[in-house]
Order: sequence, then C-alpha cells, then structure tokens
Amino acid sequence: MVSARPAVQALPAYRPGRNPADLARELGVDRAVKLASNEVPFPPLPAVVRALSETAGETHRYPDNGAAVLTAALAERYGVEPAQVVPGCGAVMLCQQLAQSFNDPGTAIAFAWRSFEMYPLLAQVAGARSLQVPLVPSLPGGSPDTHDLDALAAAVDEDTRLVFVCNPNNPTSTAVRRAELGRFLDRVPETVLVVLDEAYREFVTDPDVPDGLELMRGRPNVAVLRTFSKAWGLAGLRVGYLVAEDPAVADAVRRTHVPFSVSMLAQAAAVAALASEEEVGHRVAAVVAERDRLTTALRGRGLEVPDSQANFVWLPLGEPTAGVAAALEARGVITRPFAGEGIRVTVGTPEEDDVFLAALDDVLPGEPGARPDDVRPGAPVG
Ligand SMILES: *Cc1c(COP(=O)(O)O)cnc(C)c1O
Repeated sequence: MVSARPAVQALPAYRPGRNPADLARELGVDRAVKLASNEVPFPPLPAVVRALSETAGETHRYPDNGAAVLTAALAERYGVEPAQVVPGCGAVMLCQQLAQSFNDPGTAIAFAWRSFEMYPLLAQVAGARSLQVPLVPSLPGGSPDTHDLDALAAAVDEDTRLVFVCNPNNPTSTAVRRAELGRFLDRVPETVLVVLDEAYREFVTDPDVPDGLELMRGRPNVAVLRTFSKAWGLAGLRVGYLVAEDPAVADAVRRTHVPFSVSMLAQAAAVAALASEEEVGHRVAAVVAERDRLTTALRGRGLEVPDSQANFVWLPLGEPTAGVAAALEARGVITRPFAGEGIRVTVGTPEEDDVFLAALDDVLPGEPGARPDDVRPGAPVG
C-alpha cells in the first residue's frame, strides 16, 4: 500500500461548505442564503462577462504563462514595475508559492492566530514550523480579535523566513493601523519576508489603516497580496496577485508558479475588471453601507461585534458557536463557524442580511424588543 507523507496525512480532510441549492431542497424552502465565503453579492461585472465570451473562442490555446497583459495593467494601476508583480491562481496559490519559495523544511512561518486558515496548512505541507501568535482584544474586556504586533515581532526567530499579516484579518474583520504596522516592519529583521495579506483592502474605510503598497516602499523584505475574488467579484475564476518591493522577491515567487495555472479566462476577466474600477467602487460602497447597517443591527441585539474593515462581520460567540451556526443553517442561512470561537458572516444584500437577522432572533435567546427601530424584521425563509 502506498502512503502519503505524514505531514499530508495529518492535514484535515477538505470539508466543502453547504451548497445553498442543496440546503434549500433539503429544508423544503425556495432559497437558502449563503453568507459563508466572503463573496460579493453581485453578479459578475458586465465588462467581465463580455471579456469571457470574447476569450472563449481562444481557449484551445494555452494561456500566456507570464500573464503579461494583466501584469502590465496591475503595474500601471498601482504605480509599480511589472517586475514587481506576480499574478497567481488565486491569492491562496501565491501563499503556497511563497512558502515553497522561501521555506526549507525546518524553517518557520509566523502569523497571528486565529487568522486565515490556509497559513498553518501551507506551513505543514512545506515542513515548516507554524509560529502562531494569539490575537488580543481590540477593546478592553472584549474577545481576542486583533493582531498583537509586538508579540508577533518577538516571535520571529532565527528560523523564520516568512511572516503573514492578514490586514484586515480574516475571520475577525479588524485591521491594524499605520503607525503600529510601520513600527512592526521596522522591528522585523530584513532577512525575513513580511507578506501583508490584503485580500479585503478594497473594503477598508478607516484612513488610519495603511495601504500596504505605500507602506512597502523602501522596504525590500515586504510584499503585498491581493485578490480579484472578493471586491472584484471573480472568486470563481481564481486570480490574485503579489506585489513585492524587491523584484528579486517577485522573481522567487514566479519560480514556483504552476505552469499555466492562471487561465486565459481569468487573465482576460481580471483585465476587464480593472478597467471597471469605478463600478467596483460603487459596489464596494454598497457593501460598506450594508456592513455598517448589519453591525448596528447586531450590536442592537446586545452582541459584541468588532468594527469591521472587510466585507464580513465577526460574532465572537465562544462556546455556543457551532450550535448557533447549525441552528442558522436549519433556518436556511449558511455562515462560517469556527467552533468554540465565533461565526464569520459575509455581508450580503440587505434582503439576505434580514433573513440572517430574523434567523438569529429565532436562535438566540433575548429581547426582540431591544432592537433598534431601523431594523426591519427579516422576511421569513422560503
Ligand atoms: C479569500 C482570501 C484570500 C484569497 O483568495 P483567492 O480566492 O485564493 O484569491 C487570501 N487571503 C485571505 C485572508 C482571504 O480571505
């Protein structure tokens, strides 16, 4: 019998999230609401749909392995050189490439925890140690939900090659500010690559939250990770990008690129999306307005909800988390629970979020009368 590497056997088996169509059928309702994966609730941009149909007739050919047109468009948009830009098959693949390019077995990757689920898994596959630094409360007496950058800097040891700072942090939605992140970058040795994972950058509204691409300037050990999956609405096409201050970092990441993994359709769609930035901006503004309404509605129910800088909110429910998520699912609302910690809820349309709020009222004990007046009762599911 063959056997996989122990590190691979120890990986958790992939558990797909509930599919809303299946759940709706099972519950006998018209429609289930999926607020689990931080997608935007809009259909693809019209320019993206056009680009996809125009490109479809060329897909008997391999894509451009260097994604030159997309790379040039990104470089132009963000005011960097093409040599600093690396498109990838989703930002997750770039995370994996980073570990492959910088971590020999026995080295270490440092990151806050809880944060993006991918980080410990890619460390494990690379044979690298995970240095996990617990989150701390952003508010006195609150739940741990934000980066402890002093502790993260202190955790970096001589084996550390890579540090991920997820800003805003998935799943807790909080963001670190310019001054503290700058101080952190000053402290990390220049032999350690710091990757600012800014998958949710477009949703940031606090002016004190830095743009990683600006903070990166003059720091050759810093790179920024972004994606077309969230604000730009291309989750199904798989395209993200890394921008590195030092072209040598970008070159190292390019060397572990899986050939042709950024498809021709993904490249064309991303270029079209970039050209539709104004429309994306309107969509992001709608998500941000709805995020604020949802946050207010949840706080009005007496729940602790940190200030979100992303397109999701975090409910640090602790022990009841799994039970609450299961009860929501039984009411046709799919969220993303982290057992024992909290539930991450993607900002949906106002209608979807009302369905979620109504289901939550049904599930959580409490005074419905305590709700603020501006919260409409949710439509019943189905
Ligand atoms: C969603 C997400 C990504 C990457 O998404 P892709 O779809 O692979 O581009 C990366 N980092 C974080 C923190 C995310 O939440």
